[in-house]
Amino acid sequence: MQIIVVGGGAAGMMAAWSAAKEGAGVTLLEKNDRLGKKLYITGKGRCNVTNACGKDEFFTHLYRNPRFLYSAFDRFSNEDMMAFAEDHGTALKIERGQRVFPASDHASDIIKALKNALAEAGVSILHGAEAKKLLVQNGAVSGVRVQMAGADGKPKLQSLKADRVIIATGGLSYPGTGSTGDGYRFAEEAGHSVTPRQPSLVPLNARFEKPLSDRFSPKTLMGLSLKNVSIRMEQGGKTITEDFGEMLFTHFGVSGPLILSASALLGDALKEENTAKKGPVRLHLDLKPALTQEQLEARFIREAEAAGAKQLDTALSGWMPKALIPVILGWADVPSAIKMSSVSRTQRSALIGAVKDLLMVITSLRGYEEAVVTRGGVSVKEIDPKTMASKKLKGLFFAGEVLDLDASTGGFNLQIAWSTGYAAGKGAAGE
Ligand SMILES: Cc1cc2nc3c(=O)[nH]c(=O)nc-3n(C[C@H](O)[C@H](O)[C@H](O)COP(=O)(O)OP(=O)(O)OC[C@H]3O[C@@H](n4cnc5c(N)ncnc54)[C@H](O)[C@@H]3O)c2cc1C
Repeated sequence: MQIIVVGGGAAGMMAAWSAAKEGAGVTLLEKNDRLGKKLYITGKGRCNVTNACGKDEFFTHLYRNPRFLYSAFDRFSNEDMMAFAEDHGTALKIERGQRVFPASDHASDIIKALKNALAEAGVSILHGAEAKKLLVQNGAVSGVRVQMAGADGKPKLQSLKADRVIIATGGLSYPGTGSTGDGYRFAEEAGHSVTPRQPSLVPLNARFEKPLSDRFSPKTLMGLSLKNVSIRMEQGGKTITEDFGEMLFTHFGVSGPLILSASALLGDALKEENTAKKGPVRLHLDLKPALTQEQLEARFIREAEAAGAKQLDTALSGWMPKALIPVILGWADVPSAIKMSSVSRTQRSALIGAVKDLLMVITSLRGYEEAVVTRGGVSVKEIDPKTMASKKLKGLFFAGEVLDLDASTGGFNLQIAWSTGYAAGKGAAGE
């Protein structure tokens, strides 16, 4: 049995290993000059390789088609992935939120483990080999048309024969790593439907709500990171998501863990037909979520009594980062150069109101260049969940982000790649 795996990312490497382990002859095609280019930058270079939570919780982190993954996850779970890394020489550690990382904090150690496994299993690797087209004969896959350097070093098209082909070309996010969506084209040519795609786990373009937007833009606060804040995203008064944690202001709007997670739930709401009908998506930022408006007002009164002569903007530096003070004062329409003791009851209430509910309008998602994952992809309705085999073309299999599967941050997206990659390899090798 000869198998070609297209794409040497997380899913493709796992698929190649899993197939070779079953005794198949496996060739792994990677268009870059090295394997796992995206893996190097995962988890900010530390690679959050999976999540160690229990199975039930695991599936609550999947946004699209969680049921489809049940079978593949049972065959190769988060625990299996942890054992795989350790067995191939990479010690792991578990951090906050059950996130699993290499003990060394180096993503390169996960790639090393995968490369060790590929070498042990005897997988042939072709670097700089770009799959251009699937070859089909008598209604079944017969190989791949590949562009790679010939003997003279010049790119040449060649036909590589195979009994089975696994597509693991990734999605559209961070295209500089090689994931440029080629797999969708291969899938469509093989008769598959591909669901609409959009960037997910992605920063958001945003502006302050009027009247603040006339004076301030998120750019004013660029680089400011806020910890222990809560956000609520809402459209037409209906809450889309709320969360607590860390966010960041950027030159275009907002980013950081809270925002990336929220972005996964906003794609549809931000579509033009929805904003026209239901109004804009608004971000309510609460800078002091642990305290109520009343508790904060009482604190303000206490501080004004103790240090009434203090100028308001100076006093507020104990409440929030300096850069935010003019924004909060602007939103509450309170002058900065007054004494704390001169702040009226109405001004105080407006001020605390701004601390508890600073409003921004989310205008759009940022692009694929900044998206951690792609939402949408090859429809899972046309894929066998146990083997990842195509129901449309004999001998064809899919694995990883090219499929219509995505999850929240925390190691879940890579686990999708490990589980589907393993299942595809085993499936293609013939079980
Ligand atoms: C910045 C960033 C950080 C991330 N951090 C994490 C994290 O810490 N934890 C987590 O779980 N997830 C993380 N993710 C998501 C995770 O990296 C992806 O979900 C995962 O890499 C998908 O694996 P894949 O193998 O399907 O695709 P990819 O990793 O994108 O691999 C696809 C491979 O196929 C190759 N290829 C494409 N087309 C062809 C072709 N025609 N011929 C030959 N080769 C081809 C590409 O060059 C590429 O190497 C992160 C993503 C990004 C962008």
